[in-house]
Amino acid sequence: YGDFNQKIDYVFKVVLIGDSAVGKTQLLARFARNQFSVDSKATIGVEFQTKTLIIDNKTVKAQIWDTAGQERYRAVTSAYYRGAVGAMLVYDMTKRQSFDNMAKWLEELRGHADKNIVVMLIGNKCDLGTLRAVPTEDAEEFAQRENLFFMETSALESTNVETAFLTILSEIYRLIS
Ligand code: GDP
Repeated sequence: YGDFNQKIDYVFKVVLIGDSAVGKTQLLARFARNQFSVDSKATIGVEFQTKTLIIDNKTVKAQIWDTAGQERYRAVTSAYYRGAVGAMLVYDMTKRQSFDNMAKWLEELRGHADKNIVVMLIGNKCDLGTLRAVPTEDAEEFAQRENLFFMETSALESTNVETAFLTILSEIYRLIS
């Protein structure tokens, strides 16, 4: 009931993209509800969750979209990207392929989204450090080259999740205000 009767100054749509099973849904659950669940998703279809926060004394409603499994069928549609002002490109740092696919996801994003969209690269599952398959420097280099923000997170242990979302939302706010 947190949003009830609240004056909203801005609504920012942010989309989560990346391979299946990198942790997009759990990142969203952690940010929006401070929850994590180990069971996989039951439903397929586009879904979003909202969280209202204050940035610079303004009420910002973050509307965070999750592919909810569409990516498995290469069926992420242009409707998904429509109106997005931010995107989080998520890979699993224990799965090299999910990082190597970031270039494809970025290309798809740039083909569909507004050219001023703020993009953040997220290396998720940093709690599994011993299984790391993507060195931080590789991701930093890619992020720098493509002009992306970058952060390593753990939805499981809650590491950097809030910080990542706050960083992208603050940057969006800075650009439009
Ligand atoms: P999605 O397909 O990208 O939405 O991925 P999910 O959020 O469904 O997560 C896929 C699997 O990875 C699930 O079994 C999650 O429990 C697990 N997972 C997600 N985030 C993390 C994390 O930060 N650490 C670990 N160890 N597992 C995670």
